[in-house]
Amino acid sequence: MRIELAPDIEPRLRNALHQAGSREIGGMLFAEQLAPGRFRIVDFSLDPISGSHANFLRFLAFHHEALTVFFGKTGSDFSRFNYLGEWHSHPSFSAQPSREDIDTMTDLVENGSSEITFALLLIVRLRFWMWIDYSMTTFAQGYAPHQARLAKRFI
Ligand SMILES: [Zn+2]
Repeated sequence: MRIELAPDIEPRLRNALHQAGSREIGGMLFAEQLAPGRFRIVDFSLDPISGSHANFLRFLAFHHEALTVFFGKTGSDFSRFNYLGEWHSHPSFSAQPSREDIDTMTDLVENGSSEITFALLLIVRLRFWMWIDYSMTTFAQGYAPHQARLAKRFI
């Protein structure tokens, strides 16, 4: 799997992280599929309420709205533009997924009532107000979580 970022994603994330300071924030990731197994993250949502990162899947109504807006912008071309996963920040600890993060994402793809069978988890952390540390983990139904890397590193 190859994952890259559209050029405006990294500055937008950095901005959001600056504004949030020590508050944890997150939302959904939206991607364009460029080829089989190749995705470009083209947009992300920022949940209006930020709580504990363990709760990041709770705001389903807001998620639905964010999805609807994204599909509207991309002409409902679902096979090309679609939900890719979730992101959130770890302002005060390592950008690696916590046990809870892994459990929550595993639940999301393994839960029989969910239509989601694959999702990416991006965790970001602003360092020294300049750099972004990150981790990316892919979750797919029937498979163990897998660490992924960006095709191009954050600048
Ligand atoms: Zn987390």
